[in-house]
Amino acid sequence: MAHGGAIQRSRKILLLTWISMVPSTKYLGVTLDRSLTFHEHAKATAQKTQARVSLLKKLAGTGWGANFTTLRTSTLALAFSTAEYAAPAWSHSTHVHKVDVVLNDAMRLISGTLTATPVSNLPILSGIPPAQLRRDAQYAKLAQKHDRDKCLVPAPSAFEGQRLPRRHFATQAAELRPENPPSTLATWITKRWSDQWNSSTTNLKEFIPKPCAKPSGSDLPRKAWVNLNRVRTGVGRTQYFLHKIGAESSPNCACGEIQTMDHVIDDCPIYKSPHGASGLRELDDETICWLNKDLPI
Ligand SMILES: [Zn+2]
Repeated sequence: MAHGGAIQRSRKILLLTWISMVPSTKYLGVTLDRSLTFHEHAKATAQKTQARVSLLKKLAGTGWGANFTTLRTSTLALAFSTAEYAAPAWSHSTHVHKVDVVLNDAMRLISGTLTATPVSNLPILSGIPPAQLRRDAQYAKLAQKHDRDKCLVPAPSAFEGQRLPRRHFATQAAELRPENPPSTLATWITKRWSDQWNSSTTNLKEFIPKPCAKPSGSDLPRKAWVNLNRVRTGVGRTQYFLHKIGAESSPNCACGEIQTMDHVIDDCPIYKSPHGASGLRELDDETICWLNKDLPI
């Protein structure tokens, strides 16, 4: 009997210590998969961020809602903080675009722009550096720490002959390490963002020559701010645009001409801006009054 009892106990122990095979697991809030592709983590982060962006959408519409500063601060605190959790660990995954799609949505909310607006315009209009640049900055910060404390991560030789990690931290960090002498992180981001903006070819550069946290016009009321961004980017709900996407049967304006953005700003006898496109660079009282109107954009 005693012998039988011992067998039963050992069976129980076997059952309790059985470890099942799982494709991924969570460690310190990061979902790790077998090949460190971070596919599952990017998917989960995108879903979590999306839930927060949906909440932010309750704060503003196109003609009403919170001002630029409130929306920007709330988006950084709620959406970006979630999207960037432990970013240095997974920011160079090929699946990172899943998170960026949601962050672009958040920046469209701040700027009041439409889905068709070029993605490169969104950070500049939101006063938030591009998502990849922000993640790189976190990486650079870690690289600085790594320089100070060589024990932070094992040397590349420790991984010789092993499949993981795909790219060693020190190799990647060397590419991102701030210039010598080391600048602050904010300066690092500003410089890289300015370089990126200078080399871009978007028309928006005419109106916003350099990136900053408060782009021109961001102190306007919500309606004028949204209208301003739509005329500056050239993407708005004009008849021409709605006709193009099949939402309207005719591309014509109430005045009879084809209603493109240029027509609304410069030519339309009903809607045109008091100083045309040039008035959008230096916003005077007349132009601000025009931006506050119900424009077909
Ligand atoms: Zn017209």
